[in-house]
Amino acid sequence: MTAPVRVVVVGAGPGGMAAAAVAAENGCQVRLLDENHAAGGQIWRGYKTETAPNSPHGREFAKWVRRFEASGAAWEPESSVIDSPGSGVVRVERPGRPHDVPWDRLVIATGARERFLPFPGWTLPGVMGAGGLQAMVKSGLPIAGKRIVVAGSGPLLLAVAAALNREGGKIEGIFEQAPWSRLVVLAASLAALPGKLVEGAQYRWQTRGVPYKPGWWVKCALGETRLEAVVVSDGKDQREIPCDDLACGYHLVPNLELAQLLGCRIEDGYVAVNAIQETSIKGVYCVGEPTGIGGLDKALVEGQIAGFAVAGHVGKAAEFLPLRQKLRQFARHLDNTFALRAELRALAASDTIVCRCEDVTHGELAECASGRAARLHTRCGMGPCQGRICGAATEFLFGWTVASARPPLYPARLATLAGDSPDADAKRKAVASVP
Ligand SMILES: Cc1cc2nc3c(=O)[nH]c(=O)nc-3n(C[C@H](O)[C@H](O)[C@H](O)COP(=O)(O)OP(=O)(O)OC[C@H]3O[C@@H](n4cnc5c(N)ncnc54)[C@H](O)[C@@H]3O)c2cc1C
Repeated sequence: MTAPVRVVVVGAGPGGMAAAAVAAENGCQVRLLDENHAAGGQIWRGYKTETAPNSPHGREFAKWVRRFEASGAAWEPESSVIDSPGSGVVRVERPGRPHDVPWDRLVIATGARERFLPFPGWTLPGVMGAGGLQAMVKSGLPIAGKRIVVAGSGPLLLAVAAALNREGGKIEGIFEQAPWSRLVVLAASLAALPGKLVEGAQYRWQTRGVPYKPGWWVKCALGETRLEAVVVSDGKDQREIPCDDLACGYHLVPNLELAQLLGCRIEDGYVAVNAIQETSIKGVYCVGEPTGIGGLDKALVEGQIAGFAVAGHVGKAAEFLPLRQKLRQFARHLDNTFALRAELRALAASDTIVCRCEDVTHGELAECASGRAARLHTRCGMGPCQGRICGAATEFLFGWTVASARPPLYPARLATLAGDSPDADAKRKAVASVP
């Protein structure tokens, strides 16, 4: 009897859960790893199976949790993949368990994060990412009666505004930097995916009465010790809006670091994959947001394709291809619609901080000839977040791209860095003896 294929899935969002469940259902020995204590990724953060059906996309969550639990796949929470120390193994930072995890097939399902752009006042308490504020509210932050401005770009703004509204937040306005003309083109393109149109209309219905302003953006946030108001503009007019919180994010950027570390080819800012989600590295697959920002349905479809593919059922994977095609087209429309306007490059003043970990200002960066020079001279991007926040901003502001990733991808303990190899104890002792 041949041993089952060992599949490791990194990321327990919809893409990773679908890949893990389908692979395990089809005979693979699957381990699903995520840095969080609960599965669900971004969209299903904080969901519980009993109450999920009352929340947006909660039925899909309940369905995939049940399917995952029945599949026999192993769930490994609080496990951040920080490195790939050798072929067929990933190194994991986590409490109290072995760090090195071997694989025959690896599925990268690391999702996306919000893009933040610096503007005067963006570091004031009360200014948060749109998805970030939503995540805090899902974790119990009370916002009833709070005056909230939602701004930035992308479909997430409407979803967040609707969610905050449901929790009793008083939404003062939704300011979308993309112009009406592009939103109209996006809406017209959704004939192939009417469910997306209905979802957008539902969010707008839930926020009816709240001004929705395409072509407007936040110029600055005002306040002494915390946020008191924001100034929004359409380039001609501007308005000051008193508020308690600003939820501001500029669409999403894919989490590419693990794929980059493994040497997967990146094309147009995303991990390049073939028809069965395999990357340019044999045995390494990628699903969900890292292959194109397309949301829940795309992540689930790609996860299922990868799940069948790693189990060797390529024919089953192929059945999903027509739908994947439509969803990837949708992702391209999103990129075009929510492309950032040039005016946003001019918002930061010389003393506006861009790298929050290392307190590096826009003025300091403007004197650097390249991203590398900026890292060496200012430590921009070298703090605990390793450029996850400022990297996307400096790419937009200065055109500095990060072509590679270096381990550890997340801050890790020395014991983890030493690994679980047979000489690990010796390595740990050596590391521990470093003064
Ligand atoms: C903050 C935020 C809020 C969002 N809210 C909504 C919403 O309300 N509605 C909506 O329609 N869409 C929302 N989205 C979009 C959402 O990302 C997608 O719809 C969907 O969740 C994508 O699924 P995914 O499986 O590709 O990735 P994700 O759901 O992002 O899951 C990826 C998982 O991988 C984990 N991970 C990443 N790197 C590692 C690593 N190295 N080691 C271990 N674990 C790792 C992450 O912590 C995460 O749990 C949100 C996105 C963000 C960034």
